[in-house]
Amino acid sequence: MVTPALPVAPDAGPGPGMDEPLKRILGARTATSLAKLGLETTGDLLRHYPRRYAEPGTMTDLASLVVGEHVTVMARVASATVRSMRSRGGAMMQAVVTDDVHRLNLTFFSKGPGALRVHEDRLRPGAVGLFTGTVGEYRGERQLTHPDYVLVGADADDEAAALTEASRPVPIYPASAAVPTWRIQRAVRTVLDPLTEEQVPDPVPAEILARHRYPSLLRALRLVHLPFTTSEAHQGLARLRFEEALVLQAELARRRAQVAALRTTARPARAGGLLEAFDARLPFTLTAGQQEVGEQLATDLAQSRPMQRLLQGDVGSGKTIVALRAMLQVVDAGGQAAILAPTEVLAAQHHRTIRALLGPLAEAGTLMGEAGATRVALLTGSLGARARKEALLEAASGQAGIVVGTHALLGEHVQFADLGLIVVDEQHRFGVEQRDALRGRAQTTPHMLVMTATPIPRTVAMTLFGDLEISELAGLPDGRAGVATHVVPAGRPAWVGRIWQRVREEVDAGNRVYVVCPRIDSDDAPDVLDDGGLLLDDDGAGASGGSGASDHAEGGPARPPLSAVTEVAEQLRAMPDLDGVRIGTLHGRLPAAEKDQAMADLASGAAPVLVATTVVEVGVDVPEATLMVILDADRFGISQLHQLRGRVGRGSRPGTCLLVSHAEPGTDAFERVERLASTTDGFELARLDLELRREGDVLGASQSGKASSLRLLRVVRDADLIARARQDAEALVAEDPALAAWPGLAAAIEDRLRDESKEFIDRS
Ligand code: ADP
Ligand code: MG
Repeated sequence: MVTPALPVAPDAGPGPGMDEPLKRILGARTATSLAKLGLETTGDLLRHYPRRYAEPGTMTDLASLVVGEHVTVMARVASATVRSMRSRGGAMMQAVVTDDVHRLNLTFFSKGPGALRVHEDRLRPGAVGLFTGTVGEYRGERQLTHPDYVLVGADADDEAAALTEASRPVPIYPASAAVPTWRIQRAVRTVLDPLTEEQVPDPVPAEILARHRYPSLLRALRLVHLPFTTSEAHQGLARLRFEEALVLQAELARRRAQVAALRTTARPARAGGLLEAFDARLPFTLTAGQQEVGEQLATDLAQSRPMQRLLQGDVGSGKTIVALRAMLQVVDAGGQAAILAPTEVLAAQHHRTIRALLGPLAEAGTLMGEAGATRVALLTGSLGARARKEALLEAASGQAGIVVGTHALLGEHVQFADLGLIVVDEQHRFGVEQRDALRGRAQTTPHMLVMTATPIPRTVAMTLFGDLEISELAGLPDGRAGVATHVVPAGRPAWVGRIWQRVREEVDAGNRVYVVCPRIDSDDAPDVLDDGGLLLDDDGAGASGGSGASDHAEGGPARPPLSAVTEVAEQLRAMPDLDGVRIGTLHGRLPAAEKDQAMADLASGAAPVLVATTVVEVGVDVPEATLMVILDADRFGISQLHQLRGRVGRGSRPGTCLLVSHAEPGTDAFERVERLASTTDGFELARLDLELRREGDVLGASQSGKASSLRLLRVVRDADLIARARQDAEALVAEDPALAAWPGLAAAIEDRLRDESKEFIDRS
């Protein structure tokens, strides 16, 4: 589905305003240096917000400076003296600045004393200024050599003005050594002063501004860049944050509206069909949550407007049954349903479970089949030619009411006789674009149900899955024994030895055990290094340092190499404690048949211990599994660990999860592991996970230079604001889907779609 172009904003009134190239206003030198920060136009510069504010009354704590760091500090001059240097020739000036407690030296060199007098003149004792440079050390004292600096109030025309200036908060911009923050500040002031309201079109409609008592865009920019008090700055920032949320939510609301305008075949429930027969066969009663969401889905499916729903539920809440019941309703109504899983292991498992749950209801065309039965086909990338042909045929002919597959199902030219429902299971990196691609597949748009692997806070879901309506599946099935989680320090051989005895005991009791490692083998990069379970980047490698890779260093240089599946399996096989226990392995590089075999051997108990990578992370369901040992647990993110441990304690027997970790107390890695052990609430953990992430990680946006349109918004902290913006956006789109009445908003959406933020939506 292609998003139709929005009407373009009419020319922004008098003068080029926000589009004016900085070259024309600031002169070549300044413009060139600002261009290095990616700032080319007035708009770019004004959207380059201060990172923080320095209060003239509040000196920087000079004790906090770290050698080697580039810093900007607010401090008071204590002394400044120029002297000649006999040894080297030339002159030197040394100034001392202070935060009233600690001291920092400023050192300037020159050929002769004359050039230094200028500094001496300006750096009068008592003057307060901002000083910027790289922290060095000389004879045990910290110093800045040739710092750039600006004195507070120095630009003012008279003393009164100087006093006012000296009491204003000073914006500190994301800067670089080449462009110190006050050069940016001066440039901002030059650009901002002459601008008029007409030149700065506001993306936020006037009535919304009035309702929330927000200032106009121009006024907000003035508050943020040239505040008289920090509270003014925060007022401005709040409004800019709201603007970001509104623009994003307006775009998402438009997408929802477009989807809502689509038509599909209504698939109302039918009496006497497969769904009824299935419910009658079900060996347990549905939880209240399953019933509630079930009714919601049944109602959605009965509409001729395609369902677009996200189903969130904690690990083990029983999403599969909910999805299956929806699929059966569609089959009863004469349509087909497809369910997509993120891995082949999971697709194969769904195929098995769904067939097992349906029993004779899934055996159409065989002697076993009951009247009105259907068939369940499996379609994955690794099928043999014959099996594949057969599955394709069953899908195309409509014989298979249910088709299970991996995402391979999307890319291929798989034909359905009448695809009525697509279920996307356990997938959190399933972006808007992919959802669009799916919607576009059939002649009519099928109903769609997306199920998250990891529950996420509602506002995060609204941001990342904003084109979907959201259902939450509350509660777990009764009789779940649950999981107890313990942290085992890897440095304690006796404790670690005890783990393998526990494994033996579980096996002897007829239970199954998972051992999870971050790598496949010793010369392999970590298998699936966590993305923390949230919608962010592809492998979690780069940006998700907060939960994975970058914490490696925290373990210290002495840290042993990460555990690897093949090696750990060998070690366990050689262990006297585990004599006679068959140990299987499972990882992403195995051929599909071997993966299936490993899972089957675990399920049957033929190989009751499975050493695996995170391929068992999502969805895998072996009710006899009672113990999970996660090696190098600190290498995984919170949500991922939560998913992993959700594999045990699924039956009536209680589960145990042992997190083996080298992490030192006090590190982020250690905290993650501890937090996980402290609660089993997936929603709560997802929130913690987001909090522990660095800001840039949450939105996946680079925080430097010309950032995306989401510069200020933080999905967790700004939950309320996002919810408000969503309401407003919905009302606007309902009133005028093309947003023609609000060209500023339409233009801002176009901008953000052109921007990196497009990438953000897609990556979600
Ligand atoms: P998830 O929501 O994590 O995908 P599953 O759908 O895999 O969870 O369900 C977990 C297990 O709970 C499965 O073995 C399933 O058969 C079982 N289950 C689902 N619903 C119920 C219920 N109402 N009562 C008892 N067991 C249930
Ligand atoms: Mg599942």
